[in-house]
Amino acid sequence: MGTVYAIANQKGGVGKTTTAVNVAACIAEAGYDTLLVDIDPQANATVGLGLPKDAVPNVYDVLAGDATAEAALKPSSIERLHVLPSSADLAGANVELPRQAGSEQRLREALDPLRERFAFIILDCPPSLGPLTVNALVAADRVIVPVQTEYFALEGLAGLLDTLALIQRELNPRLTIAGMLLTMHDGRTRLARDVEREVREHFPELVFDTVIPRNVRIGEAPSYGRPVIHHDPHCVGSDAYFELAKEVAARG
Ligand code: ADP
Ligand code: MG
Repeated sequence: MGTVYAIANQKGGVGKTTTAVNVAACIAEAGYDTLLVDIDPQANATVGLGLPKDAVPNVYDVLAGDATAEAALKPSSIERLHVLPSSADLAGANVELPRQAGSEQRLREALDPLRERFAFIILDCPPSLGPLTVNALVAADRVIVPVQTEYFALEGLAGLLDTLALIQRELNPRLTIAGMLLTMHDGRTRLARDVEREVREHFPELVFDTVIPRNVRIGEAPSYGRPVIHHDPHCVGSDAYFELAKEVAARG
């Protein structure tokens, strides 16, 4: 049975998509059948892996019950990595889902049949705690929370943890936090070092040892439609995401 990971933080620009794409690619590279599900209407993960964002059927059709997840998934250019692509239509799901009873279970139900086929299923969430993120957190076994080592990093984390606790209690008792991941870290600045210390003090045990550095190669890889490990396999960004994938797999 595969394990489902949601990559979530209601803040935008903290490295969710970058982490989803690159962890998925590293895990696939390590030999596991992996599925990346893009549930952000911005479709950055879909495009970042070189796929079009107007594919039909896509994750919107799956959530609407018009297609199975099996029918909507596409192979990527990376061996063993498949993608369930997003499209701009998905924005409509934010309005439609809350009007339908039980709709927070849609993604879980759709992905259940794929748990036999994929060892890892990674969900890239939108930057909100709306219905799409709730669907992801109900479908997930574990959540990874990327945290940018910038001034407002801690702000919003308490709210996110409250939401996770609520979902655990009401909708998904299986859900656990895999870890918080420090991203876009610039170890040369005192601010980044202070934020790292503060996050580790606040959440001992919860923060991954691996820290993702700010790295130009990580930032430019999506414009070539590929993960950083294919863009520049030997840069510090690739090393960091390989380390993280090992840590994620070891934490189980
Ligand atoms: P989110 O999905 O949380 O909104 P993204 O993963 O899209 O965040 O990251 C926001 C921006 O920062 C993107 O342009 C991305 O390419 C860039 N970025 C993410 N991580 C890094 C990093 N470690 N080094 C440099 N740029 C990064
Ligand atoms: Mg994103």
